Amino acid sequence: MATEAHDVVTMEKIVALCKRRGFIFQSSEIYGGLASTYDYGHYGVLLKTNVKNEWWRAMVQERDDIVALDAAILMHPRVWEASGHLEGFTDPLVQCLGKCKRRWREDHLREAVEAEGGDPNAELRCPECGGELSEPRNFHLMFETNMGPVKDEGSTVYLRPETAQGIFVNFKNYMQFARKKPPFGIAQVGKSFRNEITPANFIFRTREFEQMEMEYFVPPDDAPQWYEYWQKARFDWYTELGIRPDHLQLRPHDADELSHYSSATSDVEYLFPMGWSELEGIANRGDFDLTQHAKFSGEKLEYVDSATGDRYVPHVIEPAAGADRTTLAFMVDAYDEETVEGRERVVLRLHPRLAPVKVAVMPLLNKDGHPERARQVYEMLRTRMNAEYDTGGSIGKRYRRQDEIGTPWGVTIDHQTIEDDTVTLRDRDSLDQTRIAIGELADELTRRLHAPWQTPKLA
Ligand code: ATP
Repeated sequence: MATEAHDVVTMEKIVALCKRRGFIFQSSEIYGGLASTYDYGHYGVLLKTNVKNEWWRAMVQERDDIVALDAAILMHPRVWEASGHLEGFTDPLVQCLGKCKRRWREDHLREAVEAEGGDPNAELRCPECGGELSEPRNFHLMFETNMGPVKDEGSTVYLRPETAQGIFVNFKNYMQFARKKPPFGIAQVGKSFRNEITPANFIFRTREFEQMEMEYFVPPDDAPQWYEYWQKARFDWYTELGIRPDHLQLRPHDADELSHYSSATSDVEYLFPMGWSELEGIANRGDFDLTQHAKFSGEKLEYVDSATGDRYVPHVIEPAAGADRTTLAFMVDAYDEETVEGRERVVLRLHPRLAPVKVAVMPLLNKDGHPERARQVYEMLRTRMNAEYDTGGSIGKRYRRQDEIGTPWGVTIDHQTIEDDTVTLRDRDSLDQTRIAIGELADELTRRLHAPWQTPKLA
């Protein structure tokens, strides 16, 4: 039985596990890798898909008031003029004039000085080599490309730096076709691109990433109340999926941190190994976006109440999360090491609904009819949930592999199975083994999958 469990996670351990077990690889590795770009392998795809599916479930499936959208990544360039991204989507960059010539985000350097009790307005030096730093230069974060055969000014388009604008420019379509009236929301999941100067911390900050964003359109007077509502709803989403509440916080932005369009913003932050960092921002954006797009497009973007004739521009509450950052937080929070009967094991204590594989079916021996019966059980279970048939190595080795990818249940086919059609069912966290009839297995696992769950790290 478990004898020890403590918070032992580091980012290096997560990166190593991701590579070892095929969750996430460096992009273009055989060419030496492309910096800060990652490819999701089999288990990574399954895990991130589950994260996104849980977001869709909470945002659309279990609600009446939110509808889905999948807008194109390439949009009319005027969109980015209206949104302010062409003008203002820049970071202040300084370059080391000393030995190392590295580039740094000036605001990050000042934050680091302040965090260590220093004067954030004092002259900065290069943190790498101590060299002098250049004057800050604004660095544009949007990736540009060209559309069509001729590369000229008129052909420039941008890879979207956020999915939100795709929602705003479709507002009119949804007013006409979705038969929704405020309060209602439009939800979208998709890739975004930012030419980040200092990508870091594995998949936490990359140049290509996936966002899960929802724009909630409300009558202007109701905006403050919906802002409160979404802060709580989004915080609860993480804890219901197993994140420890003491590793999660809501941090309201100070007035000088707010974007020009936002009257209030709070970040959901997770306590990563590198410290508290943003998973999601929840912003009260007022009527900025719809007003801007109405001005730039010449279209009326407002709600008209057909009964009363009242018209107004809805205000917008936006919960904007990152699928990759969230996936990383779930892995970090789930990572555990323990000694079981004198042997070390690494285990990902993921919520069963997030786990890439729900059940592994394993023949005890590679003979005596075990593999054939195990294969039948596996084929029966995989119609209901993601299952894996695992024959490689000793049973202990197979359990260890499944523990590392977070598989909550293991089913072993043994001598007794051949006699009475029962199997052992092992629980990843408690390590309890129970005997259960094959006929009851699928229903029992489905029941467990949908039961309320709490991480054993809290026990
Ligand atoms: P940060 O301050 O960390 O750069 P942000 O405040 O600019 O993030 P938003 O524009 O609010 O981020 O985007 C919403 C969410 O998208 C973020 O909370 C984050 O989860 C995700 N996100 C933003 N930039 C990146 C990135 N470079 N890599 C991975 N995820 C990102």
